[in-house]
Amino acid sequence: MFPSSFDYQRANSVQEALALLSQHPDAKLIAGGHSLLPAMKLRLATPPMLIDISKIDDFTMNAVSPTRDGGTLIGALATHAKIAGGQFVPFALQTAASLIGDMQVRNMGTIGGSIAHADPAADYPAVLLALGAEIHVEGPNGARVIAADDFFTDLFTTALQPNEIVVSIRIRPAGTRAASAYAKHPHPASGFAVAGVAVAIAANPDRTVSTARVAVTGACAKAQRLSATENALMGKPLNADNIQAAAMTDNMLDCLSDQYASAEYRAHLSRILARNALTTVLERMQ
Ligand code: FAD
Repeated sequence: MFPSSFDYQRANSVQEALALLSQHPDAKLIAGGHSLLPAMKLRLATPPMLIDISKIDDFTMNAVSPTRDGGTLIGALATHAKIAGGQFVPFALQTAASLIGDMQVRNMGTIGGSIAHADPAADYPAVLLALGAEIHVEGPNGARVIAADDFFTDLFTTALQPNEIVVSIRIRPAGTRAASAYAKHPHPASGFAVAGVAVAIAANPDRTVSTARVAVTGACAKAQRLSATENALMGKPLNADNIQAAAMTDNMLDCLSDQYASAEYRAHLSRILARNALTTVLERMQ
């Protein structure tokens, strides 16, 4: 399968990419190409021009590094493989990156491309929601920061404007007595998440839960927080009984349904994966 014909330009800096985007409003950025090129080959996307940002040699766009406050900075061009092997990357994010596709996809695909694409079955969105990440973007009017909670707005839709570029993702420091985890049920053919649940928990000195962020991807049109599960955990000791009760709480999800998995099955998977991810967090906090 071949895409329809297109023009190509390589940008060597974020500013150059922004200038090209303003000159060619119908152009598409290309990073790893592992979502855009399949869509172009299927003629689901027919951009007249591609602006290649993959070779931008800029620390912020490529970094996987600690921030001064103990958090993590991840450049939009960081590949899934780099994130999976990253020393300063929270466990949930490392796990999600290592479960994406196969080695070829992980060596080419980038986190910026993944979140801009916002596939409902992508792994990162749930993790960024659970970690309370900030998405740093640049556009013709300067830089702005979008909270992960506000970024994923619908199926393949984000708060990003067509003339903006994701530059980096910042993850706040986890603090002491904190842990995160991600559990996924992959589609047997594509490897995408039929459902995936990410969890980030912080505990008080008496081991009761002080912060609970739990989010699901794959199950619904967009990744979303599991508020009922979060509320059921707050103030309680993290133990097997409380995990079971919180994970089984009804989050009233409006789940997707397809040939492989019904809405009921996806809702069921979300509960089981929430329990599995919370159990991993419990083990990591002991
Ligand atoms: P591209 O394909 O280059 O771009 C995707 C979109 O994002 C385009 O619209 C582009 O214009 C835009 N874009 C790219 N970078 C930026 C930026 N910095 N700022 C603004 N817009 C930008 N994903 C999963 O989550 N889990 C899986 O299990 C999984 N399995 C896969 C299996 C296969 C066989 C394949 C081909 C893909 C799979 N993917 C999976 C998708 C993969 O993770 C892609 O790498 C990712 O979704 C897109 O990243 P990319 O760098 O390739 O983006």
